[in-house]
Amino acid sequence: MKAALFDGSQKLKIIDKEKPAIDKGQVLLKVAACGVCGTDIKILDGQSHSNPPVVLGHEFCGEVVETGAEVAELAKGDFVSVDPNIYCGKCRFCRKGQINLCENLTAIGVDIDGGFAECCAVPTGQCYTLSKKPIINAALMEPLSCAIYGIQKADIEVGDRVVIIGAGMIGIMMIKLSQLAGASQINVLEIDEKRRQYALDNGADRAFDPAAEIHKIQKLKQEDCDAVIECAGNTTTAKLSIDLVRPGGTVVFFGVVPNNEVINLRPYQIYKKDLTLRGSFLNPFTFSTASDLINSGKIDFSSIDIARYSLENIQAAIANHKGKNNLKTMIEFI
Ligand SMILES: [Zn+2]
Ligand SMILES: [Zn+2]
Repeated sequence: MKAALFDGSQKLKIIDKEKPAIDKGQVLLKVAACGVCGTDIKILDGQSHSNPPVVLGHEFCGEVVETGAEVAELAKGDFVSVDPNIYCGKCRFCRKGQINLCENLTAIGVDIDGGFAECCAVPTGQCYTLSKKPIINAALMEPLSCAIYGIQKADIEVGDRVVIIGAGMIGIMMIKLSQLAGASQINVLEIDEKRRQYALDNGADRAFDPAAEIHKIQKLKQEDCDAVIECAGNTTTAKLSIDLVRPGGTVVFFGVVPNNEVINLRPYQIYKKDLTLRGSFLNPFTFSTASDLINSGKIDFSSIDIARYSLENIQAAIANHKGKNNLKTMIEFI
């Protein structure tokens, strides 16, 4: 089978690889689609952990084509999306229910072979059954499950005013989830004009350019926004989040600011505003919520701006994702 191998260099190599053998608790998936994620780019740039040589791709879905001897839950022909994060269940964090902090976390498509390949072996516990169409919904389950965890941490109550910084794919998910959580007003900050329009088309009430509309951002600071969700992942907007949120409000740091970058914080501001500042890492216990929201039709990405590439053109797909040309870039296997 064809696979895109990360060997530690900055480019993925398309190689011929033997189809993975499955063990008794695994299924073999014929991969249908696999999203390109910022994490893949960070791995290629040496800014994020991986375990080369390894096949990357952790946002994928596919059809079950083989089942292990002890697999009862899934059958050939089932269509599933994969939660790539495998927790040990034995460490101190797992036993406290904080599985995303697992000391022995193994991620499919990061540590072990993933979805940028024609086939992938996956433990059944990581599989969630979904309808096949539209394929983009199944391919976006993993990022959606992460966004759901972020929304949970924002503690949005009915009627709350929300600010979402960054209107990439995650920002759009946060808009949809804020709507479902009952927000009365959803404000989006995004420097790219096309993405501001996507935000408005997908349920944002207002969309501002934080670089150009400084007076409007100043005004927004006085509007008592209850929650700010930072999805842009840069120091300027991380700092802005703390300034924007109302006293007593919550800031969620969802965007990944590079590890070595710092911001100046005034502890007095956090104290005096009585703020709650939270991180949001991975997707503990939220994959089934994501699958319920997709299967019920409450969340649907079928009209999202997406670029599709074949596996052979994965380098072009990565360049496209880096260039932020579309909301999502996906490798599709036909
Ligand atoms: Zn991802
Ligand atoms: Zn663990």
